[in-house]
Amino acid sequence: MQLTLWTYEGPPHVGAMRIATALKDVHYVLHAPQGDTYADLLFTMIERSKKRPPVTYTTFQARDLGGDTAELFKNATREAYARFQPNAMMVGASCTAELIQDDPAGLAKALNLPIPVIPLELPSYQKKENWGAAETFYQMVRTLAAPAVKTPAATLVAERAAARAAGKAPSCNILGATALGFRHRDDVHEIQKLLGELGIEVNVTAPLNASVADLQRLGEADFNVVLYPEIAGVATSWLTRTFGQPATKVIPIGVNATTEFIAEVAALAGLDASIVDRYQNSRAQWYSKSVDSTYLTGKRVFIFGDATHVIAAARVASQEIGFEVVGLGTYSREFARDVREAAALYGVEALITDDYLEVEQKASELAPDLMLGTQMERHIAKRLGIPCAVISAPIHVQDFPARYSPQMGFEGANVLFDTWIHPLMMGLEEHLIMMFREDFEFDASAAGSHLGHRAVNHAPAAPAKTEIPAEQISVTASAVVDAVVGEATWAPDAMKELGKIPFFVRGKARRNTERFAIEQGLSMITIETLYDAKAHYGR
Ligand code: SF4
Repeated sequence: MQLTLWTYEGPPHVGAMRIATALKDVHYVLHAPQGDTYADLLFTMIERSKKRPPVTYTTFQARDLGGDTAELFKNATREAYARFQPNAMMVGASCTAELIQDDPAGLAKALNLPIPVIPLELPSYQKKENWGAAETFYQMVRTLAAPAVKTPAATLVAERAAARAAGKAPSCNILGATALGFRHRDDVHEIQKLLGELGIEVNVTAPLNASVADLQRLGEADFNVVLYPEIAGVATSWLTRTFGQPATKVIPIGVNATTEFIAEVAALAGLDASIVDRYQNSRAQWYSKSVDSTYLTGKRVFIFGDATHVIAAARVASQEIGFEVVGLGTYSREFARDVREAAALYGVEALITDDYLEVEQKASELAPDLMLGTQMERHIAKRLGIPCAVISAPIHVQDFPARYSPQMGFEGANVLFDTWIHPLMMGLEEHLIMMFREDFEFDASAAGSHLGHRAVNHAPAAPAKTEIPAEQISVTASAVVDAVVGEATWAPDAMKELGKIPFFVRGKARRNTERFAIEQGLSMITIETLYDAKAHYGR
């Protein structure tokens, strides 16, 4: 048995909690031991939700196991209904409660509550959080929307087409956003806005902010927009089979994918395809033409997270920002095939694992310039000294910013650009600071440069050794000469590489490299020495 300190996903009942918390008027009764209430903190502390999740725990203790835990469950369910008056209830068991086999479904049925009660069978020892969320959403949709099924799907499709031909605006459902999702709240807003601009009505957004009544009328839409297949995939397939509703496949993350998404929904809604031409307004494209982008081109990036976000991020990184994808992986085993296919596009082998130690090992082997990942990768990257940006759950409190910060749509593309590029720029700044750290104005005792009149008058530090002035280093091979410094000699190609460093930091880079070479007992400074010295002083 492996002791796990961190996991990418919680047990499946946490997935069910994400659905319950996203919906407006349901309540979840969870047969669970004392201690499982920790899950509330995910929502109140990490997501900063204003209210507790709508969950009642039976919180049985060790001493209860000798008595009637089934009665405990029935009382908790009865009391939760009386207190919260929900319009539907979910019932189920957490990992430990599953072992005592009390059958929450049968017990709840015996109570004859006057609302729909949806039993959740979530095998805690085989499945995980996202699977639990997908299964819960599917069971809710199926139970609540099924009574509306009175007509065969083919007839419904024909009726909807006739209504649109008569001038009715096209409509869709937006599916997949949950509580505790990475930027789900803002993604929904961005996509609602985009669909509104296209003249497409949003029938229901679910599960986030949907009521029981909303789920009951999911079948009225012309098609479904699937934002997160991990959560909405199963329910969407059922809606397609039952109501004949087609669904989107493109995840609108990045400028290119958003443009493709617009074309896809335009086709599903029967709109003129030329509408896509209107949408070329992202600042990311402008930025990619700016001088900063030259510094970014070819940066090596390792991407790990849920399947939806890593596939999308790899495409943006490669096609829109000009990074080189050197590693790609997911903990979403159900979507391993999709991630493998995506990885093949970049000539890399997908890493499919839910063991963060394997991810750390891979990151240290690849030594990328940037990691895009989850909260786990943020920790890994920090330990390895690699710049990192978060693109996927699991996430921490800082990934629920107060400001509007979507990942999807054109504004999402701008947010991606800013959040991915920032750590690289910070890396550059830190590097410069390390280069100059011994200069007098960076000395701890020096006054700030804006306080010139109070600045301490430092004697200039004695040069460590005689050296060729940096200005005399030419970037052309013909002018490169071997220079002997102490016991280390600059190889011509290393000298040429030194010449590529901006003049204002070149002298410092040279001194640091020479000192490093002498400390390491190297007689020849090669390109590798130059970069080893850079890494050494950058730590
Ligand atoms: S029942 Fe499951 S979720 Fe609850 S504490 Fe035990 S292992 Fe964790």
